[in-house]
Amino acid sequence: MKIITIVGARPQFIKAAALSREIAKHNNIEEIIIHTGQHFDDNMSDVFFREMEIPEPKYNLDINSISHGAMTGRMLERIEGILIKEEPDILLVYGDTNSTIAGALAAKKMHIKVAHVEAGLRSFNMEMPEEVNRILTDRISDFLFCPTTTAINNLDKEGYNNIDCKIFNSGDVMQDAANFYAEKSSERAKVFKELDFDKFILCTFHRAENTDDNIRLIEIIESLNEINKEIQVVLPLHPRTKTKIEDLGIKLEVKIIDPVGYFDMIELLKNCSLVITDSGGLQKEAFFFKKNCVTMRDQTEWVELLDHKVNVLVGAEKVKILQGVLDMLEKESDFSVNLYGNGNACENIINKLVELECQ
Ligand code: UDP
Repeated sequence: MKIITIVGARPQFIKAAALSREIAKHNNIEEIIIHTGQHFDDNMSDVFFREMEIPEPKYNLDINSISHGAMTGRMLERIEGILIKEEPDILLVYGDTNSTIAGALAAKKMHIKVAHVEAGLRSFNMEMPEEVNRILTDRISDFLFCPTTTAINNLDKEGYNNIDCKIFNSGDVMQDAANFYAEKSSERAKVFKELDFDKFILCTFHRAENTDDNIRLIEIIESLNEINKEIQVVLPLHPRTKTKIEDLGIKLEVKIIDPVGYFDMIELLKNCSLVITDSGGLQKEAFFFKKNCVTMRDQTEWVELLDHKVNVLVGAEKVKILQGVLDMLEKESDFSVNLYGNGNACENIINKLVELECQ
């Protein structure tokens, strides 16, 4: 079986690291990786391939830093050319980026089976580019691997029973990645060892809804500055957020560091007192490492975290962010429940693909 995997953005490298390791256990599966180039800096891309030992991409399309339409269009054209040449049995895509929809669309038009990992997630906010990408990708995928029962239920409600596709609850590949790399992170982390904080809050933010809206961005910056007066905030700063803050000309008075690799991220997660984020992946990772999370968004795809009261949505209003941090900082939460599978999502996915291809 020949699988072509499309990656392009940071969270996809982390997911692919876990799944590619599983694929490599099967002698009868050939995996070819296409890196679209959506994320391209060393600390947003190369570091993950190096540290997490992801197989080197056979193709790097170097498509980045252009508008959504131009980016998706160029990816579509280039991926189509590669699919014609490589003739894979399955095209595998992750999550909800422009690389995801471009890959899925190119393959579907060529009648190549599309497998979507992280299917069925919804924020119900169609202004998010990610929501558009994930809905369209789900609709044209043949095999939908859902990480949670919520995701399965979302597809159910959208009438997927009547659509010609196969839906599975595989568990979450990010749980697999966290389990595997957590065993190695204390030895391999570099940046974390240089930070010397007893107590700190880990923060990341980069969603367009926060960075591209000056009102929201100012509220977030002012909140973090205020929180930092009481407890150190450590912020691995996403390049897009960095540019937007520089444009705005407001000082962010927290400990800013460059984006870190996954080993450092895990050490930061293990040792922090709380997570503040607008990242999808980080909300779950906070849970994996038994930390409460304050989410600076109006919706989340990971609603089970809200139900279990380990995560609160605070939008981007200063009063709400500060209150959320106050409420969650000392809160004793129950992290014993299993929300994202047993850490065997990758095995489930690959076994299922092998079974389906043999039919
Ligand atoms: N991450 C990382 N280094 C950083 C910031 C994030 O390794 O400096 C990881 C994080 O642990 C998670 C993934 O990147 O696994 C999340 O990616 P991101 O927040 O960019 O995207 P999202 O999950 O929101 O789509």
